[in-house]
Amino acid sequence: MMTENKSCPTDVDYADIRVSSSVVATGTMRALVLESPGALGLRRIAIPQPGPGEILVRVRAAMTCGTDLKAFLRGHPQIPMPGTFGHEYSGDVVAVGEGAPFAVGDAVMGVHSAPCQDCAWCQRGQENLCESIMATKVLGSYAEYLLIPARIAALNVFQKPAWLSYDRAALLEPLACVAHGLERANAHVDDRVLIIGPGAIGLMFVASLRQQGVRNITLAGRNPERLAIGEGFGARTVKYPDVGTNYDLVIECTGKVEVWEASLNMVRRGGTVVLFGGCPSGTTAKFDTGRLHYDEISLISPFHFGTKAVRTARSWLLDPEFDLSPLVSGERALEDGEQVFRDLEASKGLKYVFRP
Ligand SMILES: [Zn+2]
Ligand SMILES: [Zn+2]
Repeated sequence: MMTENKSCPTDVDYADIRVSSSVVATGTMRALVLESPGALGLRRIAIPQPGPGEILVRVRAAMTCGTDLKAFLRGHPQIPMPGTFGHEYSGDVVAVGEGAPFAVGDAVMGVHSAPCQDCAWCQRGQENLCESIMATKVLGSYAEYLLIPARIAALNVFQKPAWLSYDRAALLEPLACVAHGLERANAHVDDRVLIIGPGAIGLMFVASLRQQGVRNITLAGRNPERLAIGEGFGARTVKYPDVGTNYDLVIECTGKVEVWEASLNMVRRGGTVVLFGGCPSGTTAKFDTGRLHYDEISLISPFHFGTKAVRTARSWLLDPEFDLSPLVSGERALEDGEQVFRDLEASKGLKYVFRP
């Protein structure tokens, strides 16, 4: 039997909690809504109710993300406005639709998208490019409740072990992006790897490469506190742009056109450059065609992830030694939402957690 969480009086204020397999939470909930770039408001909206195969999750941890910061600052093609916001989450199932793969009371971790596994891209193993993966994703983890559509619940939501904290479990989505990037990068354990940009993603690349047994990792950036976290994860650190050259693998994690362009000069002949950080839409980059061709540089730009990367990321999180807690800069309240993104804009903190 589910017990009410006494430390969360908002449950009682805004929702009618009943113990039932069909309807547990009704009424309204607090949710951050991105109205337009720069305008993020706390609203009270209806708690969604699960249909067939769907699950309603009481959000216990929701992490801020670089993609959300981009959307907040300048809009984002994949994030509609006005709309509920946030996509990294973990929590407890409080209501399920008919045939859903979870039960009320299950603690879960998951991502916010799932491929159809039927379209041409899915059939050829490129689930990240699935025709409908973006159209069917769910946004809105900066809220008390999040409704997970049936396809996502079936494919990309998992039981969260009790020992794994909700905070750590909520890192599954960004880590799945990193796992997909590493699938494509095909790193070898003896590679000299350069990671440019010590944001949360760059730091996750450091931790994940170490997890894979790669030892020679250089992290380049300008923010001393972030570089120090990278050192703690096992990277050598250098101040950008004095990064050296001849790396086997360069992973760009800044999303800046000039860094995309410069990264080509840092890789060895025959090496690979991973352009990971998405640049503002409409921008173009210039590359030396001679360098690309005669030095046979591989340029790849991985996007999103498929089901395999989600499972890889989950296996990393289930390793107790794999500790990403230095990436979480603190807990914030939903009421503070707009200020949280102003702080992130000013490079104050890496990721913040809401426990709505
Ligand atoms: Zn994210
Ligand atoms: Zn598909």
